[in-house]
Amino acid sequence: MRETPALVSEPALRILFAASEVTPYSKTGGLADVAWALPAELARQGHQVLVVTPRYGSVKVPDARPVGEPFTLRFPFGEEVVRLFALEPQDNLRIVFVDTPRLSWREGLYGEEGRDFHDNSQRFALFGMAALTAAQALRFVPDVVHCNDWQTGLMPLALKRAYRRVWPGARSVLTIHNLAYQGVFPKHELDVLGLPWELFTVDGLEYWGHLSYLKAGLVWADALTTVSPSYAREIQTKPLGMGMEGVMQARAHVLRGIRNGVDVLEWNPATDALLPHRFSAQDVSGKQACQVALLERAKLPPPPAGLPVFGVIGRMVDQKGVDLLLGALPPWLEHGARVVVLGSGAAQYEDGWRRLEARLPTCVRVTIGYDDGLAHLIEAGADFFIMPSRFEPCGLNQMYSQLYGAVPIVHAVGGLKDTVSDVTQADGSGVVFTEATVDGLRRALSRALALFRDPTRYREVQRRGMARDFSWAAPARDYVDVYRSLLRTR
Ligand code: ADP
Repeated sequence: MRETPALVSEPALRILFAASEVTPYSKTGGLADVAWALPAELARQGHQVLVVTPRYGSVKVPDARPVGEPFTLRFPFGEEVVRLFALEPQDNLRIVFVDTPRLSWREGLYGEEGRDFHDNSQRFALFGMAALTAAQALRFVPDVVHCNDWQTGLMPLALKRAYRRVWPGARSVLTIHNLAYQGVFPKHELDVLGLPWELFTVDGLEYWGHLSYLKAGLVWADALTTVSPSYAREIQTKPLGMGMEGVMQARAHVLRGIRNGVDVLEWNPATDALLPHRFSAQDVSGKQACQVALLERAKLPPPPAGLPVFGVIGRMVDQKGVDLLLGALPPWLEHGARVVVLGSGAAQYEDGWRRLEARLPTCVRVTIGYDDGLAHLIEAGADFFIMPSRFEPCGLNQMYSQLYGAVPIVHAVGGLKDTVSDVTQADGSGVVFTEATVDGLRRALSRALALFRDPTRYREVQRRGMARDFSWAAPARDYVDVYRSLLRTR
């Protein structure tokens, strides 16, 4: 039976959603998950959503059909012919892929072999203009243009200038998925891009003598959001403001934190097709079978009684606290606890994990790479999931892990703090620690071990996590609130 879209008492909105990556077509991080699931939920709630994203060389969409006429965009750096291809995966939702040589002739999203492309400023100026022109070419008149991260940072500016007369009623929102990525380029790029120097001021595009696409978005978007309420506060402070804290403070009145949701069609242990066994909060026996399957796949023997299997998934970068894991875990592993690790990133961290695996080969298994199936199996098979991020805008894995009964051990920061409550609380669903140091994590691991050795309490904490509602329904309504409040000011 088809689901009826939720009733909307106010008129449905037309939302142009621009993102440089969208699951499952292209992905380097959580942005891609959001750029799929949020538009899908908005469409389900009855709004008309047009998602525009690049068709990189690596994007395989054989079913996408050509739409509109090809058009040419002209910049001082050159002319680009843009072709559009579209998919309509559900009612009210259209995904348009922008195909143009600079974006599509290379496989990578932002770079290759660990290095950024030399012309990213041009590629994403082009993408921003192509996204606006695509909507225009397809006669989609947006109420709201929802931009995401630095790659779309010039779009709010374009809306205030070139597009002011085209769509006088349109308002822009920029979502910050991670303030650490700011799209900073040498200032001489202004000439290459054809941007007027009068915009190169402290209140404009200028960022410590350079040009920042993110800052353009922060300054010119009508509303800003970020992906958790705690992160919205943290980015206004020096330690986590990444040099943008002044801008964030100045724009605090238009900034709102809305926690990300989870695509519960993909991440539900009761229906997950990627798992060898399924389970639910009522019956976790399938989780034990998943643990057996995980250890078999990892070629690790089961841990001695009373010791857990830990899971770790994510980009191996400073942000994620890999050094804390490498410093705090070994004593527990030497006693026989197991850890299954999946991710890739900085060579020093990949090597650090490989060295630990070589030293403790029956306790540590490290997979360097990207593997969806293994990510699901780790969440399903682990007793605990560790995420000691130094900062975390929202984070998705700690939510997946709660739904999959892998009790999260997290640093109290950003979205981790907003989505996991400590076992000492009545609604505790994880172990939350406040000090992002090796000692802080070590103490958290001790608390986790004590919890694990009390099976009744452990099950209670696990069940509370599994019962949490992390769906997109409520966050999507919060975004609609933001959109509507902007439109009231028209
Ligand atoms: P970030 O966006 O900072 O990388 P998030 O936790 O918000 O972190 O989102 C990361 C997303 O990427 C999650 O969906 C996570 O499961 C997934 N992921 C990260 N690394 C891997 C990997 N090596 N294999 C499979 N999935 C991964």
